[in-house]
Amino acid sequence: MQTTSEYHCAFCGEENTTFVDISGGMQQSYIEDCQVCCRPNVLYIRVDEDTLDIEIDSDYAG
Ligand SMILES: [Zn+2]
Repeated sequence: MQTTSEYHCAFCGEENTTFVDISGGMQQSYIEDCQVCCRPNVLYIRVDEDTLDIEIDSDYAG
């Protein structure tokens, strides 16, 4: 099951949309390049088990 969520780039602050595969787990982290400035963000994804709401924290990678 895949859905989309938004996060703000840790570098430039612009909003990005990312695909989250909920079947990958309730807590996930991976690196994704910002669609605006192309710098790498570490995304920490938390899925609420009841509502399937997604929260994403972003941090500097590298
Ligand atoms: Zn950026």
